[in-house]
Amino acid sequence: SRFADTTRAVLTIDLPAIVANWKDLAARGAPGAVAGVVKADGYGLGAAEVGRALRAAGCRHFFVAQLQEGIALRAAIGAGPMIAVLGGFPPGADGDAGLVPVMNSLADVAAHAAATRASGVARRAILHVDTGMARLGLDAAERARLSADHSLLAGIELLYVMTHLACADEPAHPMNAAQAQRFAEACSDLPMARRSFANSSGMFLGPDFASDLSRPGCALYGINPTPDRPNPMRQVARLDAPVLQVREIPAGTPVGYGASWTAPRPTRIATVAVGYADGYLRSLSGKAVADFRGRPVPLVARVSMDLTTFDVTDLPEIAPGDRLTLIGGAGCSPDEVGARAGTIGYEVLTSLGARYARDYI
Ligand code: PLP
Repeated sequence: SRFADTTRAVLTIDLPAIVANWKDLAARGAPGAVAGVVKADGYGLGAAEVGRALRAAGCRHFFVAQLQEGIALRAAIGAGPMIAVLGGFPPGADGDAGLVPVMNSLADVAAHAAATRASGVARRAILHVDTGMARLGLDAAERARLSADHSLLAGIELLYVMTHLACADEPAHPMNAAQAQRFAEACSDLPMARRSFANSSGMFLGPDFASDLSRPGCALYGINPTPDRPNPMRQVARLDAPVLQVREIPAGTPVGYGASWTAPRPTRIATVAVGYADGYLRSLSGKAVADFRGRPVPLVARVSMDLTTFDVTDLPEIAPGDRLTLIGGAGCSPDEVGARAGTIGYEVLTSLGARYARDYI
């Protein structure tokens, strides 16, 4: 059983919840399609497992960040669905995986157009126009050159023109409307109509942000796409870590590296088998709470590489072998853990690491 090794933490991933989140988003994406963004190994939760579950639920479009992620995803989900690589790749580098490159510059466009002419076979691609991230994608000057000369795209089967929102999680931010405006202008100058626009948060911004293909990632994995409102998504990931030891220490006893925390009273310390090497971020030191059957358990002292200490003085029933929920319980959703660590839920999930027993339900 998954609890056979009582010294190992268990990461439980609720695939039906991911599918429910995707269906919920797909209902909002109408009339356009809704992709699954499964880059960074499905935000740390397993791109192959997530990809297969979404594919079975009817998802026909996937996005990854890197070529090798796309090749692995194709092997996992089989032929059929579009798999696009946001970072792009040189013509032919995908072998027989049948991936779709995102072209992020006119140089990318030229390379794929030249390869198309050389082979005589049209290549499918997505064109990324930058409307406000200043990161990847054609800038204003490149867009002007392309709209003046559509033949630069000759031979390329352009599936979508896409852009990416910088501030979609801040609905009132003026950047959102500015990007919608620039995207509409860029698309009207280009020789094709299909568009890919919103990320998770963008799907909640209203009709100006609808498109033929939305690209939600975080919301699939239970991260709140509407940070100023209650989370509409289902929780997906839960990290349960075993207590290795419980010890009683007198008031005044320092705990952990740097002796940075000292017990203010006689204290019971539970030492749990998860540390920063498991993505339980060191910046949580002294700041997080775990959940034990609905009750909060405060983290004390520094998070070490493989171990973390909790104050269980008020929970006398806790004993070695019990598991505390460190992520995905009450008060410790990925968003809440991220906030306590001074980061975001995305980083909590993508930092999870590989040492857990993984249980897909
Ligand atoms: N589209 C692009 C280009 C991205 O880089 C990302 C991820 O950052 C997404 C979509 C998905 O974004 P989110 O996880 O915020 O839904």
